[in-house]
Amino acid sequence: MTKAQENNLVIGAGMVGVCCALYLQRAGHQVTLIDQHEPGSQTSFGNAATFASYACIPVNHPKLIHNLPKLMLGADRPLSVSPLYLARRLPWMLNFLRHCRRDNVDHTIRGLGALLRHAEEASIALFQSSQVMDLIKRQGTLYLYATENSLSAAQDDIKRRRDQGVPITEITSREIQELEPHLAPTFPGGILFNDGFQLINPKALIQRLTQSFIDDGGQFIHNKVCSLKNMSNGRLKIGTDTHDLEAKRVIIAAGAWSTQISGGCIDPVPLDTERGYHVMFPNDARLLNRPVGLADAGLYISPLDNGLRAAGTVELAGLNARPNQGRLNYIESVVRRVLPEAGARGSDWLGFRPTMPDSLPVIGQSSRHSSVFYAFGHHHIGITLGGITGKLIQQLIDREPTTIDLAPYSPNRF
Ligand SMILES: Cc1cc2nc3c(=O)[nH]c(=O)nc-3n(C[C@H](O)[C@H](O)[C@H](O)COP(=O)(O)OP(=O)(O)OC[C@H]3O[C@@H](n4cnc5c(N)ncnc54)[C@H](O)[C@@H]3O)c2cc1C
Repeated sequence: MTKAQENNLVIGAGMVGVCCALYLQRAGHQVTLIDQHEPGSQTSFGNAATFASYACIPVNHPKLIHNLPKLMLGADRPLSVSPLYLARRLPWMLNFLRHCRRDNVDHTIRGLGALLRHAEEASIALFQSSQVMDLIKRQGTLYLYATENSLSAAQDDIKRRRDQGVPITEITSREIQELEPHLAPTFPGGILFNDGFQLINPKALIQRLTQSFIDDGGQFIHNKVCSLKNMSNGRLKIGTDTHDLEAKRVIIAAGAWSTQISGGCIDPVPLDTERGYHVMFPNDARLLNRPVGLADAGLYISPLDNGLRAAGTVELAGLNARPNQGRLNYIESVVRRVLPEAGARGSDWLGFRPTMPDSLPVIGQSSRHSSVFYAFGHHHIGITLGGITGKLIQQLIDREPTTIDLAPYSPNRF
C-alpha cells in the first residue's frame, strides 16, 4: 500500500489536531479528522489568542512555591485550587510542584524553547497555504508588571527568555502609555515581545484551516471516539458513539481529554488540566492595540474581532467541576482596574488546558501500539505550538529526521 492509501485518523479538531491533519495531508497521506464538537470550539476557542513564541517559562516555577500560600488565599488571586480535587489528585499535584525545582524548570525551559524557536515558521507555513493570514495581527505583545518589586523579580526570567533567543525590549512606564494610552498609568515597567503576534479570532482560523483540509481531500467526521483497539491484522479499530472505524494509524490530539479513550493502546501518562477562564467586553476592542499580559494578575487582555477578551488564571479542579463565578468576577475586576474605560461585560467561558506535571507536551509514539501517536499536553501555549507539533508528528510517521530531538516530549518520561 502507498501512503496515500493508508488511512490516518486524527482524534481532536483543536489547533493541535488540525495542524497534525494538515501536515500529514500535505506530505501525501490520506487523513480523516474526527471530533465530537465543531472544529476549534473547545480550548482552542476561548484562549487569549496570542502567538506566544516567547512563552518558555512554565507556571510551575520556583516563584510558585515561594508565593503558594499567598496565591491560594482568597478569590482575588490568579491561582485557585479545589481542596476536594487536591485530595483526589495529590500525587499529580505533588509531581507538578516537584517541577518547580530550579533544575527541573531549566529542563522545561529548554524543552519549550526548542519547540518555540520553530513555532512561527511551522504555523505560518500552514496559515499562508490555507489563506488565513487575514486573521493574524502583528503588533508585538506587551507584558507588564504591577510593582517595582515584581519587575525586578522578573529579571532572571527575562534573561532566561533571552537565552532562548527571544527578542525583548524593556520599556518604561512612559513608553507603556505611548503604546497603550487607555491603560491606567500604574505600571512601573514591562517588556515588549517584539515578535509576538495574535490571532484575531482563533475559532474562525481553525475552522478555515479545517475547510482548507477538506477542500484538499481530507474528511471530517463529527463523532466521539470511545475506544481504540488493536486488530489481528495490525490495524486499529476505533469505536465511536455510533459505529466502528478502521485506520492504519491514529494520532491522539484530543487536548485535555486525550487519555480518556479506552482499549489499552494509550500509555497511562499523567495528563491533567489547568482550567482557565475568559470574560468578553464586546464594545472595547478599541481600548488596546495589541495583547497585554498582566504578569501579576495571571491573565492577558487581547483585542479580537468581536471585542476585548480578558483570558487566563489557573484553576486546579479537574474536568467536571462547575465554572467558578469567583474566577470570572476576579477577571472582570482586574480589567476594570487596568482599563477604567471598559464598558459592559459580555459572555464568559471556562476552558481546559491539557497539562503534564513537567509542563512539556507529549509528542511521540505509543509504547503500547506502534501505530498510535500522541500530540497533546500543550498547556498554556497550544495555539502557538500546534504547527510545530503537526510538523514533528508528520516527520515521525514518515521516519524523517525530526526538526528537533523529541526525547524531552517522550510519553515514557514519567
Ligand atoms: C484561558 C486560556 C488562555 C490561553 N491563551 C493562550 C494563548 O494566548 N496562546 C496559546 O498559544 N495558547 C493559549 N492557551 C492554551 C491553548 O488554548 C491550548 O493549549 C490549546 O487550545 C490546546 O489545543 P488542543 O488542540 O490540544 O485542544 P482542544 O482545543 O481542546 O481540542 C481538543 C479537541 O479534541 C476533541 N475531543 C476530545 N475527546 C474526544 C473524543 N473522545 N473523540 C473525539 N473528539 C474528542 C474535543 O472536542 C476538542 O475539539 C490558553 C488556554 C486557556 C484556557
